[in-house]
Amino acid sequence: MALVSMNAFLPKAREKKFAVGQFNMNNLEFAQAIAEAAAELNSPFIYGVSEGALKYMGLEFTVAIAEAAAKKYGVPIALHLDHGSSFDICMKCIRAGFSSVMFDGSHYPLEENIRLTKEIVKAAHAMGVSVEGELGTIGGVEDDISVDDEDAFLAKPEEAIRFYEETGVDALALAVGTAHGMYKGEPNIRFDIIEKVASQIPVPIVLHGGSGVPDDMIRRAIRCGVGKINVNTENQIACTNTIRELLEKDRKLYDARKYLGPARQAMVEVVKSKILLFGSNNQA
Ligand SMILES: [Zn+2]
Repeated sequence: MALVSMNAFLPKAREKKFAVGQFNMNNLEFAQAIAEAAAELNSPFIYGVSEGALKYMGLEFTVAIAEAAAKKYGVPIALHLDHGSSFDICMKCIRAGFSSVMFDGSHYPLEENIRLTKEIVKAAHAMGVSVEGELGTIGGVEDDISVDDEDAFLAKPEEAIRFYEETGVDALALAVGTAHGMYKGEPNIRFDIIEKVASQIPVPIVLHGGSGVPDDMIRRAIRCGVGKINVNTENQIACTNTIRELLEKDRKLYDARKYLGPARQAMVEVVKSKILLFGSNNQA
């Protein structure tokens, strides 16, 4: 099977109330672990590739690895640029073989975000590529903002509905209280915002920063209209903890396969548990 756009599975996810996982690809072992887990559970999935990961792996290797996974495993796979920062980087990825892109114009004023996203949607759709947009500011682990301040960064439902109507994006990332990275405490997810927007637009809402969010909150978010959830930190932690443990246990170990293999297996388990939580198993 060739790589597919997110429209190959997101409408079904929205209709049947499950979410498709975007698992970030950071190297070959991540890519293999994600595909193996998804194939085992017969689930569609999205390879997320950040601009940083793209620089690290190289555009050619990234596309070749994703295409190899699609060919080998046969489940629907989208190769998706995560937080694309410009029209140029989106087009560069599409030309290289990406089947989906995110344009993150959330730091621009609303009008400018709409204008830039619309341009990318027009070009991407002409090539059968799906587009994710973003509204509101999704915080990071370093952000030290008070709850009052936090409200200012959340997506406003009226703006989100207008953003969808004017841009025609295929998925919409909203700042609803989650943050990138791992939580120290419990996140305060604004289910009311998700529900309000989801009731007015036909495409799924995307939850960024899903790592460390309690399972029941994830299930509730999916019921409210979330159809795509991004996972990266938990795989990074599983990978690195496994390697650290093995190297500390045996300081003479030098065969990279002896620690990368177990690290990859640890990620398979993480991805499988997420797929089951999101309910995308047997939806390929
Ligand atoms: Zn994100």
